[in-house]
Amino acid sequence: MENFSIETKCIQSGYKPENGEPRVLPIYQSTTYKYDSANHLGDLFDLKAPGHMYSRISNPTLACVEDKIADLEGGVGAALTTSGQAANLLAILNITSSGQNFVSLSSIYGGTVNLFAVTLKRLGIEVRFVTPEMTESEIDALFDENTRLVFGETIANPALTVLDIEKYAKIAHKHNLPLLVDNTFATPILCRPFEFGADIVIHSTTKYMDGHATVVGGCVVDSGKFDWNNGKFPELTEPDESYHGVVYTEQFGKAAFITKLRVQLIRDFGVAPSAMNAFLLNMGLETLHLRMERHCENALAVAKFLESNDKIAWVNYPKLNSSSDFTLAEKYLPKGACGVISFGIKGGREAAVKFMDSLKLAAIVVHVADARTCVLHPASTTHRQLTDEQLKAAGIGPDLIRMSVGIENVNDIINDIKQALNEVR
Ligand SMILES: *Cc1c(COP(=O)(O)O)cnc(C)c1O
Repeated sequence: MENFSIETKCIQSGYKPENGEPRVLPIYQSTTYKYDSANHLGDLFDLKAPGHMYSRISNPTLACVEDKIADLEGGVGAALTTSGQAANLLAILNITSSGQNFVSLSSIYGGTVNLFAVTLKRLGIEVRFVTPEMTESEIDALFDENTRLVFGETIANPALTVLDIEKYAKIAHKHNLPLLVDNTFATPILCRPFEFGADIVIHSTTKYMDGHATVVGGCVVDSGKFDWNNGKFPELTEPDESYHGVVYTEQFGKAAFITKLRVQLIRDFGVAPSAMNAFLLNMGLETLHLRMERHCENALAVAKFLESNDKIAWVNYPKLNSSSDFTLAEKYLPKGACGVISFGIKGGREAAVKFMDSLKLAAIVVHVADARTCVLHPASTTHRQLTDEQLKAAGIGPDLIRMSVGIENVNDIINDIKQALNEVR
C-alpha cells in the first residue's frame, strides 16, 4: 500500500478480501492445507511455489498480519513469532553461529540481556556490550572477524534512552554488518528505523501493537536492503542442506533473511503463534495510530506534572526539555516518545512503596504499554533481591517507579497521582 499514509495502513493493509469474501480477517483455524496433486505439494516443499503447507511454517491469517506489519515498517516481509523473546532469538540465530559474536547496546530490556548474556553464551555466541560512555574508537574495538551484527532498542525498556539509529547503522555498515533494532516501544507510528538505515526490525507485539494486554507475541521485519553477499553470511549465500541446497539470496533476493528465518528457524524451533492470536493482534493494529497519539500526549502531560511537583526527585521522559536524550527524541520520535515514564520520589524505597500502594486508578502489574495506566517499582518487585548498591549498579535507583501511562482521561490519571502523593509524607 505504497501511497497510503500510515494511519490508513493500520486499518487497510494486509487482508484484502475478494468479491463476496468476509469483510473481516478470518481465523484460519487449520493446521493443514489441501492440494490437488502431490507434485504441487512437492513444489511447496522445495520452496518453488508460494502457498501454505503446515501451520508451524505459515498460515493465511498470520500471513495477512505479517503483510500489514511489513507495510507499516516499510519492509519486504515479516514473520510472527510466539513472543518478543522468540523474535529476538531467531533474528540473532538467523545469521550467527557458535564461535561468533555480536555487538549490542547495554541499555536494553532485561529479558533480552538474559537471553544474550546467559542463554546465547551457552550456545557459544558471545555478546559484547556498548556502554554509554564509550567513544567511537572504543566501540570499533569491540568488532573482530567473527562479529555478525549490531543490536539496539529505539526506546530502551526501561532506561528510556533513545537509540541514535543513524550512528549505529553507520558503524555496523562500516564493518559490513546489519543493524537490528527492537522497535517495540516506539512502534512504526513513532519511528520507522529502516528510514534511518536499520536493516532488521524486531517487535514484542505484546506491548503497544496488541495494546490490550491480551496476547504475548513477537515479529521480525526485513528491510530487504542489506547486501548479504559479502562473505560473512554463508547461511544465506550458500546452499541450505535442509532444503535440497536452496540458496536464499539467489532464490528469494531481497527477502532472503526473512524467508530463511521462517522456513528454517520457525520450522525447526516451532514458534509460530496461533491464528486466533494473530487475529487479536490485528484488532490491536487497527487502532495503533490512535492509541499511540493518546499515549504520547498523556505521558508528556504526566511527565510535566511530575516535574513540577516538589515531592518528586527526578523524572525521565525523552520528550522533556530536561532529558539528556531530548535532541535524539526530537530527531527520531517527532510525534512522541510512547507512554512509558520513569521517576523517583523523595524519600527513597519507603516513599515509593507508600505511593504505589496509594494509587487507585493506576494498577500495580508486571506489564507496560497497554491501554490501562500501570506502575511497577522494580526495587520491591522484579529486582527485590538486590541491595540498594546493586540496584544503583544496574542503573535502577531504589526510588525508581516505572509508569506506563494509558489512554484514560489524563486528568483522572494526574488526579490519581496527586492523591497518592498526598499519602506520602
Ligand atoms: C517485552 C519486551 C521484549 C520481550 O517480549 P515478550 O513478548 O515479553 O517476549 C523484548 N523487547 C522489548 C523492548 C520489550 O519491551
